[in-house]
Amino acid sequence: MASVAAALPPPQTPARVALLAVQAAAEEQLETLCASALDEDIDVLLKVADAAQADAARRLRRREQLGAPSDGATSMVAWLSARCRMAPGRAADLVCLGRQLAELPETSRAVRDGEIGFQHASVMAHTASQVGAEAMREAEEDLVAEARRFDVRRFSHLARHFRDCVDAGGALADANRDHERARVHLSQTFGGCWRLDGWLDPEGGALLTTALNPLMKPVPGDRRSGGQRRNDALLELCRRLLDGGGLPLAGGQRPHLVVSVPVETLRGEPGAPGGDLRWSGPVVGELVRRLFCDAVCTEVTVGPAGGPLAVGDPGRTIPPRLRYRLNARDGRCRFTDCTRPPEWCEAHHIRPRERRGPTLLENLVLLCHFHHTCCHEGGWTIRRVSETGIEFVPP
Ligand SMILES: [Zn+2]
Ligand SMILES: [Zn+2]
Repeated sequence: MASVAAALPPPQTPARVALLAVQAAAEEQLETLCASALDEDIDVLLKVADAAQADAARRLRRREQLGAPSDGATSMVAWLSARCRMAPGRAADLVCLGRQLAELPETSRAVRDGEIGFQHASVMAHTASQVGAEAMREAEEDLVAEARRFDVRRFSHLARHFRDCVDAGGALADANRDHERARVHLSQTFGGCWRLDGWLDPEGGALLTTALNPLMKPVPGDRRSGGQRRNDALLELCRRLLDGGGLPLAGGQRPHLVVSVPVETLRGEPGAPGGDLRWSGPVVGELVRRLFCDAVCTEVTVGPAGGPLAVGDPGRTIPPRLRYRLNARDGRCRFTDCTRPPEWCEAHHIRPRERRGPTLLENLVLLCHFHHTCCHEGGWTIRRVSETGIEFVPP
């Protein structure tokens, strides 16, 4: 009996026919298609995907009306998430869309006919769940007309404005909740790297983006991704804040990076350990030698048991007068085509300090933090080509 039932083909429902059609498209050889045919197919297939998702949401609503699923799930969202191995956020979106689309006939028609995308319909449904069916009924046609005109990001801005107009109290309550939810997590992994994540409310996100954008611009020869440039910009922001001295004192001192390092490491002796960066722990020797190029140094003599025997006076590697002359001579980061001004730059020793390179104007060059790192950890070297001219040699 069982084997006979298994041999029967599944009934050809409209949903199965749609799946077969997409599978047939996926088997088509693309080599023979011209660009305009491919463009047309991309449009159509994305519309099919959008319409199919919206219809799955419509069926979810009907399924919900038939009674709670019996698979032990506590909610429709949990059931859908487990059944379709879907992230809970996406499952919640689909369930919300199904519930709201029943009250949004123009939106349902527009997504089915390919006039608006599934994400536009999601924004409509989300807005309807916030402002209520009555307010939405009056505005639906106008909003769908806007959805036809704008990409989903612009459209979601319009929807938020609409919500502010018809549900100011609800919008304010949500804004307050967003603010309470805002947080930043920062933790160090066992490997030494740090992990940063969190949530910012709209004002916080705008503030951070405004501060980072001017520091994120690519430099010549830049091969960093946007994410890497954002990371560097965030650190540059912190570096400037520390250098500018605008922060409250910590332990009676201006907050600054503190690294402890044995003298053999600064000399670059083979077999020497790395340094020890306060808050982070062990760091590689080349990083310490980069910091050592332009820092305040305090010599500590330690006894056989490691305890300090004598502590010297702190002294700047680059005394203020020398730094002033270096700024005046170089006027910018000296790396090829880099235009970052002296305020963004660190002093670098052309002949390294560990190889007895003196701290004299002739042996110094201004480099922005990015290019200074290239010349230490990145393995670039600097070659003198004339009395004042230098050349950067890639690793
Ligand atoms: Zn250096
Ligand atoms: Zn530079």
